[in-house]
Amino acid sequence: MSMLISYDPIDQKPLGEVPVTTIEQMPDLVSQAKKAQKTWAKLSLIERQKKVVQAYQNLAKVQKSLALLISKEMGKDHRRAGYEAAGTVQNTEYFCQEIAAALQPESLGHGAELQYKPLGVVAVISPWNYPLAMANNLLLPALMAGNSVILKPSEETPLVADLFVNTLNEVLPVGVLQVAHGGADTGKALVNADINMVAFTGSLAAGKHIMASAASSLKRLVMELGGNDPMIVMATADIDKAVQFAVASSFENAGQMCTSTERVYVDARVADEFEQKVVALARRYQVGAWDQTNVNIGPIVNHKQHQSVVSQLKDAQLKGARFLLGQAHYETPFIQPTVVTNITPDMQLETHETFGPIVAISRFNHISEAIERANASPYGLGASVFGGVGAADVAEQMEAGMVGVNQGAGGAGPWVGAKQSGFGFHGSAAGHQQFAQVRVLSK
Ligand code: NAD
Repeated sequence: MSMLISYDPIDQKPLGEVPVTTIEQMPDLVSQAKKAQKTWAKLSLIERQKKVVQAYQNLAKVQKSLALLISKEMGKDHRRAGYEAAGTVQNTEYFCQEIAAALQPESLGHGAELQYKPLGVVAVISPWNYPLAMANNLLLPALMAGNSVILKPSEETPLVADLFVNTLNEVLPVGVLQVAHGGADTGKALVNADINMVAFTGSLAAGKHIMASAASSLKRLVMELGGNDPMIVMATADIDKAVQFAVASSFENAGQMCTSTERVYVDARVADEFEQKVVALARRYQVGAWDQTNVNIGPIVNHKQHQSVVSQLKDAQLKGARFLLGQAHYETPFIQPTVVTNITPDMQLETHETFGPIVAISRFNHISEAIERANASPYGLGASVFGGVGAADVAEQMEAGMVGVNQGAGGAGPWVGAKQSGFGFHGSAAGHQQFAQVRVLSK
């Protein structure tokens, strides 16, 4: 049996291991999922809701262990890992009610009814950066809609997924929720298997591959993909508020967040003040291991991702960027809080998703220049605009699924990406309904 080993991102020591699901095992897994789904779908929505809520109540007993594993496997500081575990365990009852309301049949008049039926077997494929929350966001609506689920968690965080699934399965009927461990190959085998839907959160490259593979049998898709979120700071902005947001949003989860601020465009008239204050605040951030006190930036998840961040910093340095805090090279596994200015459109810090604790600043002389650069990306997940009068107008012109005016993007309603940041979405009634087959019954 081949094993997948989970490593501590700080010292590379093994934390535990799980068996890899091989390509040969996939048909058996899918056939169990199909069998279980038939019985699961026969339950009424209320009965399913009761079971799911009960399963999540059972999760409460491992809430602390889940938080600890999140910290150990991907390095998130223990306070934030605690929030992630608490959010997943404690908010489920509310979300189940919201999902159940979204899946109620609707009368279309003249005896016709709009129904939300199960799709069948749903593959949930999730990333490592919020290993519990990202899996759960897709798993919950899929289960509630009467589907069975095969979860393929990130190969970086298999232990979190194992504890999550095993604890839920103490309550859920056998086969309704299964886990398939492994890397991209396991994910590919699952996408190619005889399933009905792929609900995916991860990178744009993997998303494109999944979309191409799903085309052969027209599998339903919901894909939440990468981002390269811009922030525009107008001359009329409350500078202190803008500084707070720019730093917090760039450094959250060591910058490893899909909606972290990746590019800041600041009006040249206020740029000196903005940069000085950003540097002063960034200096207060503490890098270190999750169990040290006052640490708010953990390690980068693995060596490959660390190299990717460093190579973007070096590229910026070569092309003339100015480092106001930090430098272009760091040793694995940490990246110190870094503030870089004079970013130009040809730099990778501008064109690529970075996923590191970097505030990357450019100055603009006219707002049209800032809007053009903010939108010149294949991504369109989040965007934010800080300013007084006219900020809402600028926000209207942002090509993003979620836009914040004097605040971050998202947090209410659907979690949705525009352009190549997503395909379909989750959250809100319209999001929950994407995990069901819409059917019209005319009587
Ligand atoms: P990733 O795409 O490398 O991996 C995500 C998951 O997909 C993993 O489980 C992986 O094993 C699997 N996988 C990889 N290639 C696959 C393929 N071809 N077919 C099937 N499965 C495959 O992403 P990651 O490094 O784990 O996560 C970081 C990325 O996720 C970033 O781009 C980030 O922006 C994005 N993300 C997006 C959101 C969102 O809501 N939009 C949220 C979190 C993370």
